[in-house]
Amino acid sequence: MSDFTEAFPESLELTDNDSVLQIIWDDGHTSRHRLDVLRAECPCAGCRGHSPQQSLNLKPEQFAQIKLTDLAPVGRYAYNLVFSDAHSTGIYTLKFLRELANSA
Ligand SMILES: [Zn+2]
Repeated sequence: MSDFTEAFPESLELTDNDSVLQIIWDDGHTSRHRLDVLRAECPCAGCRGHSPQQSLNLKPEQFAQIKLTDLAPVGRYAYNLVFSDAHSTGIYTLKFLRELANSA
């Protein structure tokens, strides 16, 4: 049912005093993600664990002042987001970003 991966970001920019990552997709969709929510949703194994018991169960409230320090494409399918708490292992796929609900 999903054709999300067929859309690609046309632009990614920080808005709202660098607290929101706004992505404009090439099919005209705009998604807006608060950085504290993105950080809490980090898909890496260290944050998610390999089972629900291992999950850190992060909450956006823990990252109230979080900023983005780097954002680098990983091939054509994902972005590596580096946060100001020095967390750099999150690989956010385009599909994941596209399917995340707007949080801002
Ligand atoms: Zn993580």
